[in-house]
Amino acid sequence: MATIEPTYNDRSKVSPVTTTAFAIFHILTVVALFYTTWQAVVVAAVLHWVCISWGIGMGYHRLHTHRAYTVPKVIDYLFAVCGSMTLQGGPIFWAATHRIHHQRSDKPGDPHTPRDGRWWSHILWTIFGEEMHSNTEVMGKYAPDLMKDRFYRVLNSWHWVPLVVLGLVLLAVGGLPWVLWGVFLRVTVGLHCTWLVNSATHLWGKRRFQTTDDSRNNWWVALLTFGEGWHNNHHAYPRSARHGLVRRELDVSWLQIRLLAALGIARDLQLPTASQIANKALPLEEAA
Ligand SMILES: [Zn+2]
Ligand SMILES: [Zn+2]
Repeated sequence: MATIEPTYNDRSKVSPVTTTAFAIFHILTVVALFYTTWQAVVVAAVLHWVCISWGIGMGYHRLHTHRAYTVPKVIDYLFAVCGSMTLQGGPIFWAATHRIHHQRSDKPGDPHTPRDGRWWSHILWTIFGEEMHSNTEVMGKYAPDLMKDRFYRVLNSWHWVPLVVLGLVLLAVGGLPWVLWGVFLRVTVGLHCTWLVNSATHLWGKRRFQTTDDSRNNWWVALLTFGEGWHNNHHAYPRSARHGLVRRELDVSWLQIRLLAALGIARDLQLPTASQIANKALPLEEAA
């Protein structure tokens, strides 16, 4: 039997599980608006912060994919579980896909470049091709470091379980409004926020650094994603724990990593030096 490989930009086949899941989440997002309560809105906002900042920005992206800093295993695993509750797949799938994006940014083989279409880079890339989100064996080839850890392997194969458990807890405590807002609307909004990093920050914004891709710094994506929108900075220095490199570039995930470092919890923070930044910076007139 032929081995299935991640085939990005394969438009010949729709992934039934992913497409069905995303369709249900979008429909129930609209339904959630008819079940609005103040408590449900607060629950969704807190979960958006925990899952998109701790889970994706500080966890899947800066910690698991780029190893921009280290934390004790219990925090590392907590961030991974938070990341899984975004419906963006498990840590091995996420890190593997994102590392391929860095290797081939805006070139053939990039999983989600706007050069293949704006809607492709935003959402369509997720619903075409083989279902790879829980195919730990194949995606693990692209993240061998994460494959060594049984916790990541199990979480990757069963990445949807923490979200189901969360949904049941919310149903028991707050009833239908909490589930509709805390799971369905919150996940859908979080998906689009993260997807904007793939679409909008490779299309619109300013370039400070000379990179070989189309990445840009986009302030409104940075606001929606707790700092991930400073994407040109990130492509210039992928291992940096800090994405907003100057004071006015608000990077909430970085502020939290710095707080963890001040408390002695986060260590080995990777940061570009001032001379490294100066060497790659575009001349001021081109950086506009
Ligand atoms: Zn990028
Ligand atoms: Zn990255």
